[in-house]
Formats: sequence, C-alpha cells, structure tokens
Amino acid sequence: MRVIRLHAPFDLRMHEEPVPQVKPDEVLIRVKSVGVCASDLHYYKEGRIGTNVVEKPLIIGHEPSGVIEEVSAEVVGLRKGDRVAIEPAKPCRECKFCRQGYTNVCKSVEFFGTPPIDGALREFVAWPARLAIPIPENVSFDEAAMVEPLSVGVYAVKVSDMKGGETIAILGAGAIGLSVLQAAKLKGADKIIVTEPVAERRQVALKLGAHTVIDPSQGNVIEQALAANGGNEPDIVFECAGEPETFAQAVEIARPLGTVVIVGIPSADEYSFPASPSRRKGLTIKLLRRSRGVTEESIEMVSRGLVNVASFATHTFPLEKTREAFELAAAKTDGVIRAVIHVDE
Ligand SMILES: [Zn+2]
Ligand SMILES: [Zn+2]
Repeated sequence: MRVIRLHAPFDLRMHEEPVPQVKPDEVLIRVKSVGVCASDLHYYKEGRIGTNVVEKPLIIGHEPSGVIEEVSAEVVGLRKGDRVAIEPAKPCRECKFCRQGYTNVCKSVEFFGTPPIDGALREFVAWPARLAIPIPENVSFDEAAMVEPLSVGVYAVKVSDMKGGETIAILGAGAIGLSVLQAAKLKGADKIIVTEPVAERRQVALKLGAHTVIDPSQGNVIEQALAANGGNEPDIVFECAGEPETFAQAVEIARPLGTVVIVGIPSADEYSFPASPSRRKGLTIKLLRRSRGVTEESIEMVSRGLVNVASFATHTFPLEKTREAFELAAAKTDGVIRAVIHVDE
C-alpha cells in the first residue's frame, strides 16, 4: 500500500509498505478522506508539538474516514463495506482517568499521527473495531473526516459550561473555531463574536451564524470586540488560533468572572497572558485536551443537518499531492479551511 511519511520538517515522502495485519479485536479500513489539521501542520513545519517530537519517519494525519475492508473473527456489529468515521485516539481503558471517562487525558493513549504512532495518510489502517463508527448514508467521507475537529468544538462548548443565553467570542475561525461556533449556536449562545484575519474565513463564520466578525488588522481587537457587544465583555471566550497575541486577547476580552477556554496549540511550547486582567477579573481559564465521548453525537449533528462541516473541506488532493495540501493549509491562502486528502484517488 502507499503511505506518506514525514521524515523531517517539510520532508514528506511516499513509500510502498505492506498492508497491516489485523489483531483479533480490529478491523482493516480502506482510508477514504483525511483532513489536514493544524496539529499536523505543527509536525510538518516544526517536527514537533511541544515534547512530542518526530524522531523517525512518521505517518501523520488523524482525521480519517473509510470503508471496512476486513473484519477479525472476534468483531461483531461491523461488516465489510461499512462506511465509518474513525476515532483517532486509542486510550488504555484501564488507568484511573480512562475508568472515569476522561479518556482524553489518558497518559498511555495512542493517537494517530502522534509520535511514535503512525497516522492515517495511507491506504489501509488496522484499528480496534470499537473505534470505527458507522456513518449514515447521507454523511459523506469528507464530512466524516471533519467529525474529529467538530468533536473538539462540541467538547470545548461542553467544557465551557455554557448554559445558553451567553455572549461568546471565538478567536480564530479555522475548522475548530467554526465547530465551536456551530456547537455554541446549538447550545443557545445569544451573541457570537468572531475574530479572524482571513477574509474568506470571516465570510464562512457569518454564514454559519456569527453575529459580528472582526478583522484584527483593522485596529484594536479588544476595543472592536467590546464595541460589537454594546461595550460589554463576552461571558465566554474560546481561543482557537494558537497565536501568542490571541492568548493575551482572550483574557483581555472576557468579562469579570468569565471563562476562557484555550483550544489552540502554540508553536512555542508556552502560553502567556497578562496577569492583571486575568487576576482582577477572577477569570476561570480552562485548557482543552482533544475531545471525549462526543463522536456519535457529532456524527448525528452532521447527519441531521444541524451543523455544516462540508463547508470546511474547501480543497481536496490525491495522496501523491499531500505536500501541496500541506503547503496550502500552512499558507492559509485561497480560502482554505481544511485541505482534505482523498487517499484512493
Ligand atoms: Zn485534528
Ligand atoms: Zn488510560
């Protein structure tokens, strides 16, 4: 089978490798669509995310969908030909946190495309059957690949403890920010303010239900955000850009006793924000780790048309053009939100 390995920053190469063997609890999945995530871009550009370092050639990619090709004897409920979304995380299910349901913070988790675990940019993956979730007929493979970023947005809104009726700000309108937007709207957010430097992404945010979009290049973001809400600070701020300035803006924008949810991943392995506003306002700052327990719910949201994730998959590429896909996603040009690899084209 063809696979794409990252050898060093900016060095993606195609290889021919054997199709993986399935273990007794696994299924073999023919990979269809794989989204290129901002975290994949950290590995592509920097060779690492914090202390996770690519030390030997790694298959990256963790937003896949596919078709069941082979089912092990022990597996029930799945058949060859089933169309599936694929959970990229394989938690240990035995540690204290897993047993309490907090699989997203399992220290022994294996996660697609996170060193040393190979990811999804290949023709076949062998993965536990319980992590292959059948999708309804009306959900496309591209949409199923977008279920992973959507799940992160759905989980971020849960973590924020949003009740409905709040004013929220979302800093950054990539696939994650736009997922937060749609999940927050469904949860009953009263007013949604989005800051985003890329014009096409601001347009998509408006289409998906943002009330106000702000271009950070047009002056002070904090003043613009407050002006958009009659001078009042938002109740909840979601940082979804991962840039040094947006971490600082998040705490400046939030209201006293408000909540800031940090979703973005910084390039330098450090967050920094000013102490005075955070402390004086008594903010609650929450850090998000991936998602947990919301995949089925997210698939249903897509299937019922409650969210639009098809709009994320703006550009598609065959496997041999993976490099072009990563370059486009990194440049954020041409209105790209998610570049999606169609593995079997
Ligand atoms: Zn992702
Ligand atoms: Zn665990």
